[in-house]
Amino acid sequence: METTEAFVGLTCVDCGETFDPETATHRCPDCGGILDPEYDYDAIDLTREALESRPFESMWRYEELLPFTRDSAVTMDEGATQLVECPKLADELGVARVLLKDEGRNPTGTFKDRGQTAAVTAAVQHGATDVALNSAGNAGQAAAAYAARAGLDAHVFLPSGGDLTVVEGRIGDAGAAYADAMDEHDDWYSVKTFVTPYRHEGKKTMLYEVIEQNDWEVPDHVVYPTGGGVGLVGMHKGAKELRDLGLTDELPSMYAAQSSGCAPVVEAWEEGKEIHEVWDVPDTICGGIEIPDPGASPLILDALRESDGGAVATSDEDILDSAVTVAQHEGLEMGATCAAAASGAWELARRGDFDEDDTVVLLNTGAGNKDDDVLRSHLMGKGI
Ligand SMILES: *Cc1c(COP(=O)(O)O)cnc(C)c1O
Ligand SMILES: [Zn+2]
Repeated sequence: METTEAFVGLTCVDCGETFDPETATHRCPDCGGILDPEYDYDAIDLTREALESRPFESMWRYEELLPFTRDSAVTMDEGATQLVECPKLADELGVARVLLKDEGRNPTGTFKDRGQTAAVTAAVQHGATDVALNSAGNAGQAAAAYAARAGLDAHVFLPSGGDLTVVEGRIGDAGAAYADAMDEHDDWYSVKTFVTPYRHEGKKTMLYEVIEQNDWEVPDHVVYPTGGGVGLVGMHKGAKELRDLGLTDELPSMYAAQSSGCAPVVEAWEEGKEIHEVWDVPDTICGGIEIPDPGASPLILDALRESDGGAVATSDEDILDSAVTVAQHEGLEMGATCAAAASGAWELARRGDFDEDDTVVLLNTGAGNKDDDVLRSHLMGKGI
């Protein structure tokens, strides 16, 4: 494999054992836990100046902090998205600044590209000819695109709604179909959430970029529309890495925003639990975060606690209204799923979680035009 110098192995978040990435491909061979890429940070010599001297055109500019070399990456110049100042939203939230990280400007229109560039690179390096996952849509589109780029076949199991297998039912049913197919094809490389060790690793670059784009000032709060929590866990890891490398000296508070129609992480947070309970009847228009059984919830809850953040749920009605408000006041399009971050931020402001001199970052995880039909019917329902 063409790994980077400081990448020392994959460490299990449950049993703490470290494995050779040549042989350990997915979950922990000993206990089945999630594997997390680990680095020898003493071997990484990165300064603010060195990073600033590099062109801002791809997340692979942080190569030293990623598992694979830039030359070996399956890439379409993903990442390096804009961080847009939103002065009207700042006024409305009663904070100093609101910054929107606009992940809609990625090759397939969502931040899933950051995860798939890393995961499909791993698939290629393991010699796979096929990748597979189940997905609500965006991850599947990203996986298909990166697989095509690498000349691999993609098998994507979607709930109704490539070799795309549309499975009758919701995301759980697509998951069962995916599991059956994986049993049959043990040579397929899974690029599924927290099954491959590399998706959260790609997504941590969002946080590196936010801090560099904000002139190395750590924002006070980051609000993230949370489903499986890949991006949140990744960004929290990224924040700790920059701090441990001496490039920053604090962590932003991370907030998980969910829809009240499917909020297992918020429920666990409010009840002070270490792990979620499966959400019985998920019912939200926000497909990207409709994850009733987020297997990595202990990692999400740890990140919220460690960063002194929190969790917030708002109704679909409020979420869609927030998407409209952001578009009307700042001209920026948030997808329905993504607008949970805006709506969550409003609720956090109402609760008094923000101070008037704070900087709040909202993750716009995908482009508004990915689900413009949802927003259009919301507006039509109001007679607009
Ligand atoms: C997948 C997805 C999410 C949730 O991502 P996680 O990191 O798994 O919580 C949020 N927004 C959009 C647009 C998505 O596609
Ligand atoms: Zn283990």
